[in-house]
Amino acid sequence: MFVPLSRTGNIRVYCRIRPFLPGQSKKQTTLEYVGENGELVVSNPIKQGKDTHRLFKFNKVFGPEATQEEVFLDTQPLIRSVLDGYNVCIFAYGQTGSGKTYTMSGPCISSREDWGVNYRALNDLFQISQSRKNCIIYDVGVQMVEIYNEQVRDLLSSDGPQKRYPLFSCFGLFSFSDISLPLVHTHISIYLHVLFMNFIPVSLLFFFGYDGCITFYYFDHSLEDFYVSFDLHTLGIWSTTQPNGLAVPEASMHSVKSTADVLELMNIGLMNRAVGATALNERSSRSHSVLTVHVHGTDVKSGATLRGNLHLIDLAGSERVDRSEATGDRLKEAQHINKSLSALGDVIFALAQRSPHVPYRNSKLTQVLQSSLGGQAKTLMFVQLNPDADSYSETISTLKFAERVS
Ligand code: ADP
Ligand code: MG
Repeated sequence: MFVPLSRTGNIRVYCRIRPFLPGQSKKQTTLEYVGENGELVVSNPIKQGKDTHRLFKFNKVFGPEATQEEVFLDTQPLIRSVLDGYNVCIFAYGQTGSGKTYTMSGPCISSREDWGVNYRALNDLFQISQSRKNCIIYDVGVQMVEIYNEQVRDLLSSDGPQKRYPLFSCFGLFSFSDISLPLVHTHISIYLHVLFMNFIPVSLLFFFGYDGCITFYYFDHSLEDFYVSFDLHTLGIWSTTQPNGLAVPEASMHSVKSTADVLELMNIGLMNRAVGATALNERSSRSHSVLTVHVHGTDVKSGATLRGNLHLIDLAGSERVDRSEATGDRLKEAQHINKSLSALGDVIFALAQRSPHVPYRNSKLTQVLQSSLGGQAKTLMFVQLNPDADSYSETISTLKFAERVS
């Protein structure tokens, strides 16, 4: 199943096997692996004789003893590329209980060393952006949503699901040199002179795009190159149409300046997710959680800008639901999960095959991830496995999914 990066472009697949949990008697395992080689052998616990073993090959296999830090070390280069203007998508796939949330976020109450990929990624983003601050000024914004039954729920909104779209595109650093003539021609512009910020005379320039997006520029007459970070979301100005494909349009965007800001937001998001989970009986394992990080960088000297975004996804449990047992809401949930996970598989498969048609529109999940799948985007999938022999059939079905998309 290992396919060199040159063929698939930018898709990497890591396998992670979670340990037997404390208190769980060490049952028979069906997995044998060699970490560095990325090889995994799965033996069928029931069949005897020939053809009882299957070999799978990944970019890397992390065994039960692998620490969060070790796992992140192999993920880190992707984070750096977000700051270089790439779109990156990292997701965890596997049955419920296989360690998806552990890999992406860490255990419930986590110390720094338990931090999962999410926190470490954002921590890294801030560290690298600090180290580049003399050359590039970065602005970072975060969204966190849950996709449940093909509906997107904003996990960072205090007033429930939003019907209007925040003007995330107004959020960021702009410089004088961003304002180019073609842009002015394609937009209806309103030019305002106002007194603002300590009575410095400044100009505000709004561009109302046909796509419903409002672009906002602010500059100071007394300085040649003046950058300012402005978040129209906090001014309560909203658009009624989808701004553009870069963000999750239904969700609020939150500006973050440090890892502490991120921790606070993620805790709110996780709490909102947990509330839904209690009310709807473990809903969190039946919804996808998507954390989106938008990075906007401005070169201090030239004023040139770049954008990168990072999607971090904890997918819904991939386990199959017994059709004879599932009815009503449970069956509907299962059908939605099945549909979105296969849509995700189809998209990555089409990309790996370099197919001219990539079916992004088949599910909400693939629509939300579109900007980070394909093109120059880099994708990393964690294939999460339970170690015990009882999980054999789910393990094989998880591995078949991975085999198809690699
Ligand atoms: P999922 O999100 O796939 O349903 P969880 O991440 O909640 O699974 O993991 C299930 C249980 O296993 C949790 O108690 C979690 O803390 C534990 N666990 C998962 N992976 C690891 C690991 N690598 N090391 C230690 N404990 C783990
Ligand atoms: Mg989970």
